[in-house]
Amino acid sequence: MIVMKFGGTSVESAQAIERVAGIVKDRLTRHPVVVVSAMGKTTNKLLAIAGAAVEGKREEALAKLEELRAFHIHEAAGLGVNEQIGAHFQELSELVTGIAVMGEMTPRATDAVSAFGERLSSVIVTARFQQLGIDAAHVDSRTVIITDARHTQAAPIFSETYRRLAETIPPLAAKHVVVMGGFIGSTEAGATSTLGRGGSDYTAAIAGAGIGAEEIQIWTDVDGMLTSDPTILPGGYRVKHCSFAEAAELAYFGAKVLHPATVLPAIEKNIPVRILNSRRPQVEGTLITAEAPRSTSPIRSIACKRNITLVNIVSTRMLMAHGFLRRIFEIFDRYETPVDMLATSEVSVSLTIDNTRALAAIRKEIETFAEVSVEEDQAIISMVGDNLRHTPGVASRAFSALKDIKVRMISEGASLLNISVVVAAADLKSAVESLHREFFTNPDPAAFE
Ligand code: ASP
Ligand code: MG
Repeated sequence: MIVMKFGGTSVESAQAIERVAGIVKDRLTRHPVVVVSAMGKTTNKLLAIAGAAVEGKREEALAKLEELRAFHIHEAAGLGVNEQIGAHFQELSELVTGIAVMGEMTPRATDAVSAFGERLSSVIVTARFQQLGIDAAHVDSRTVIITDARHTQAAPIFSETYRRLAETIPPLAAKHVVVMGGFIGSTEAGATSTLGRGGSDYTAAIAGAGIGAEEIQIWTDVDGMLTSDPTILPGGYRVKHCSFAEAAELAYFGAKVLHPATVLPAIEKNIPVRILNSRRPQVEGTLITAEAPRSTSPIRSIACKRNITLVNIVSTRMLMAHGFLRRIFEIFDRYETPVDMLATSEVSVSLTIDNTRALAAIRKEIETFAEVSVEEDQAIISMVGDNLRHTPGVASRAFSALKDIKVRMISEGASLLNISVVVAAADLKSAVESLHREFFTNPDPAAFE
């Protein structure tokens, strides 16, 4: 069995679903279990409908609801599921009316609304597969993904979920292509819940772990992880294989492809995860496993994080004193502002943040005991690779490549697989170009393509 997850773009229309069906058909011997997101931007639209209802804009909510219904009916034309879609929208409009009457939306009601995207898409994809000659069977994810009651951010109860998955899916997948919605589940009490926005990858990993899949495929619209962020430097190489730790570090420092935390259940069970492009299914994508084979390149990829703010904190009182860092971090912590990078000296601390929502308040508190200066429009460039720890001289190569650029801050991550620098946003492109030239001219063909 393999799990194949297709995101919202991959199932955004009847035509897109047909492309997905073609990809699935080519893999029938591997017994696919297909996990789908809501069609296109449906989840956002559902939440907007609920939002309008809460604000008492009942007409607007109902008009948007009608638009969404018409869209689903249109994309499902000729599949014989109109009645089912109609029933879903009937239920949804009652819910939306209730929300409008109450003028209030609990997290539980939010989940009930946002779950409709995957409830609908999974029904439509199943019907379309059947029409195209695939023997597809629909599973309502709410019967197998059992979660706690932390609505909108629910966590799976793994023992029960794995038990149900193992009981339900393999016998079905032996004869059919199983289709299930991502993102959604239900609580032990039977209320609809969701795993948090973007949760379909998580569903795929949970399902794969629960059934002991041989591979979990995350189908997206890029060829996989690349050696450079294509929005900054197009033309990077595809990374054939990377470790989970590398993928996690790259995601944390800006790579958009996959949030590795969401595939952790699979990695923990040693199930390989592969990122693939549904527009170019012949490309082998990027394989992510707990460990990846070493290559002759010291780094696997260069990630970038834009819109970074650099905060410099200076206090002569820090000299010889203890408790200073604790005091600073306690403030960032209290305002729920994550710190990405950090450098300290005897009397100063420099750090970067990307969420500046609470910066004014944080600054005010720190200024009671230190001087603070803030520089906006910075960017972090992270060179990531497990190999860094085995390869001396990488930092000096990086700095000679960056010799014409003002580097504001440097950090060799404690994880030993990341060297990061902060540069002004204006220097980002040329800095990435220089680093990419330095590290990826003639890359190891076994590791990159
Ligand atoms: N449809 C959900 C969302 O938009 C889950 C997903 O797409 O992964 O957040
Ligand atoms: Mg998505």
